[in-house]
This record gives sequence, structure tokens and C-alpha cells, in this order.
Amino acid sequence: MTTRFLLGESDLPSHWYNVVADLPSPPPPPMGPDGKPVTLDALAAIFPPALIEQEVSAERWIPIPEEVRGILRLWRPTPLHRAHRLEQALKTPAKIYYKNESVSPAGSHKPNTSIPQAWYNKAAGIRRLTTETGAGQWGCSLALAGQLLGLEVRVYMVKVSYEQKPYRRSLMKTWGAEVYASPTRMTNAGRQILDAHPDTPGSLGIAISEAVEEAAGRADTNYALGSVLNHVMHHQTVIGLEARRQMELAGDYPDMVLASCGGGSNFAGLAFPFFADKAAGRRVRLVAVEPSSCPTLTKGVYAYDYGDATGLTPLLKMHTLGHDFVPPGIHAGGLRYHGAAPLVSQLVHAGLVEATAIPQLETFEAGVLFARTEGIVPAPESSHAIAATIRAARECAQSGEPKTLLFNLSGHGHFDMSAYDRFLAGELQNYEYPTEAIREALSHLPKIA
Ligand SMILES: *Cc1c(COP(=O)(O)O)cnc(C)c1O
Repeated sequence: MTTRFLLGESDLPSHWYNVVADLPSPPPPPMGPDGKPVTLDALAAIFPPALIEQEVSAERWIPIPEEVRGILRLWRPTPLHRAHRLEQALKTPAKIYYKNESVSPAGSHKPNTSIPQAWYNKAAGIRRLTTETGAGQWGCSLALAGQLLGLEVRVYMVKVSYEQKPYRRSLMKTWGAEVYASPTRMTNAGRQILDAHPDTPGSLGIAISEAVEEAAGRADTNYALGSVLNHVMHHQTVIGLEARRQMELAGDYPDMVLASCGGGSNFAGLAFPFFADKAAGRRVRLVAVEPSSCPTLTKGVYAYDYGDATGLTPLLKMHTLGHDFVPPGIHAGGLRYHGAAPLVSQLVHAGLVEATAIPQLETFEAGVLFARTEGIVPAPESSHAIAATIRAARECAQSGEPKTLLFNLSGHGHFDMSAYDRFLAGELQNYEYPTEAIREALSHLPKIA
């Protein structure tokens, strides 16, 4: 009975997969507020040429630079586990597999893209990177990449997380980054928000505005985004490319592939290589899992919207809850972004990817059951995928069908223990985002010609 399916270092993928090559129609382009597609020059103020090229590429395979592969080898290929003990606890005939991205130095899948992003920026002569971070996972991953590649990193961290997650802050500083609670008074965007709402807890959208504004204003500085954009989706496909080979080692193929969806990158990372099989005629269900309190794919609209809160970024065609959406304070499980990756959104809109939302208590119950059976304490973000997998496994127990389920353990929860404490103390509640509030936020969508 094998528990872990392992690849050797030489099995690390040599190319990223670009799902655009297999889409039923070309992706809608990013737009300016004037309703015209943005020029690549506009992106050049904050991104290096190689990443812009990947952003608009339709090539199926993009080569991974050797130096990047060398750094990814610090923790890749990651293991694929068979969750025997979770299956037993659920008394299910389903076979449950998970890809374990928690083994990276930062504890999540995010360094799969922070490393190449830092590498391409360095190659373009950039000296500093700015970014935003919510829970702190992305800030840590970029800090790690900056340290390994010799770039300075400045992180705008959403204020409420800055206060609630001191150890994420320490980790970023250990890897040499500067960290500020956003909104700050260092940018116009930050000052504007603080003048209007002095007590704001901050939001990802606001922090993005600050990081983009700084990068756009300095020639030696670029901006790095941890999810949402096409090049980030490509970089994460090492997860699914490895997982496909590992499922072969296991002599199995998934009926369902499940992953949590915030900005969409860990979902894309695991699911897109299986989408290639689906596009070639193979039967496989791909399921993106989100929180009921930030229901972007299940309750948002598919429309052009800004990526940030104040409208500095180009407009992206994506599922969105409105760029000024701020998630409720009670929500402890991450995945708080108002939008979702255009590539994931397009596939959901086309009916090729399914989306489902899980309430907060079920998410944490799933995380605790996983910790008590498989041993690893999952990140609350990952627990959304675990909860949806458990739902599917319980259906199998009812119907007697021995389905094969594969999910992405996108990270561990060692820095999220205060959220577990609140759950174990009975302080968390379910929170369905009110339809009224969503309608209000959606009424502020930009009007484009
Ligand atoms: C950031 C993060 C996510 C969500 O972001 P995506 O862009 O949707 O992948 C999920 N899990 C973990 C552990 C994360 O750090």
C-alpha cells in the first residue's frame, strides 16, 4: 500500500504549460478605462519584457530557465500522497490523493512563481520589487525569492493581517524584506483611503494600489503579483504536470480534481494540465472551491473590472464581486480577493470548470479532520479544497462508487494557528455574504464603452 508517490529531481518539468493553447476562444484582452485594449508599453512600467511576453503568449509550452529549475529543486518535485487514513475515517470507497505543496520553504505553492518572477526581473536589470500581501503567504514567497536572487523587496501587508499575523511579518524580515501595514501614508492611494476611512482594516485591493503606484513611479523598481495574471497561472503548472506523472505511478487517473480558489493560481497549477487532457477528450471534472463569505465565482459577475481598489490597474475580464468589495472581519479562512484569474473565470464561464462555495465552519472542520488523520495541519485556504473533497468522498460512501479524487494541499497552516484557536474556541460562525451587499459593490463596476 503506497502512501507517497515520489519523482526524482531530474523529473522536474522542463516547460510550463500554457492553457491558452487549448481554450475554446482567445482570452479577452486587458482593457484601459477608455475601453481599448491596453498597449504592452503600459505594462512595461511595472513588469519585465519576458513576463509581458508570457502574459500574452498562446504557445502551449514555455521553457523554464535552468537557473530557475535549480532553485525550484530546493523542494521540488513535491510528493503526491494517497490519503489512506482520511479515507478510512470517512469509510468511503473513494480513493483520495493530494499533491503536497506545503513542503516549500514558505510553506505553500507561491514560491513556484515568486522564483521565476524575481529571476526575469533581475535579468531585465531591475533592483527592487514591490508587492502586496494579505495573509502573508505571498509576501513571504517574494521575500524568499528576493533573498535567493539578490533583489530588494518591499511588502505592503493588509493592516488587519499585519496586526494578526506577526510571525508572517518576522518570516519576511528574516528573508530580508521591508514590511509595512497598508494603507500607509507613503503613497497617494494610501493617503486617500486613510483620509476617507482612518480606521480601515485595509484590503488586498488597497495594498495592490500602493505597490503598483510605487513601482510605476521608479525606474529601478517593478511590481510582482502572486496570482490572477496569466504568467502566474503558467508558472504554477509544475504542480499539475508533476501530479499527472505521479497519478500514472499510482496507476490511477482522477475523476475529480479539486483546489481552493482565491486569485486562482493553485487551482490553475493543479487543474490546467488535466484540462489539457479534458480538451483532448478525456473525462475529468475540475472543481474550484471558494469561501461562502467571498463567493467570487459562484455569486460574482463575469465582467471587466479593476484588479485593485482605486482603479490603477488595467481592466480584466473576470468573475468579480466589485473592486471595492471588503470581506467581513469574521472571515478567517483567507481567499479574500474580489476577483479571480481571467483564465480560470473564462473556463468557469464556458462551463468547462465547476465552482463551489463552502461555509467557514465546514472548512475548519475539514482542516481539523485532515490534521487528525493525515497529520499535516492544512492552511485554512487549502481546507476549502479538503472540505469539497470530503463532500465528494461522502457521496461515494452513499452511492458505493469508488471515485478517484485529487486535491491540492496548497500549504500548511503553521502560521494560521490563531484562526484554528478561534475555531476550536467556538468563536467562528458561518457568514453568507449578503446578496444586497454584493449588488451594491457590483453597481460600482467601471462602465466601458
Ligand atoms: C495564496 C494561497 C491560496 C489562494 O491563492 P490562489 O491564487 O487562489 O492560489 C491558497 N492556498 C494557500 C496556502 C495560499 O497561500
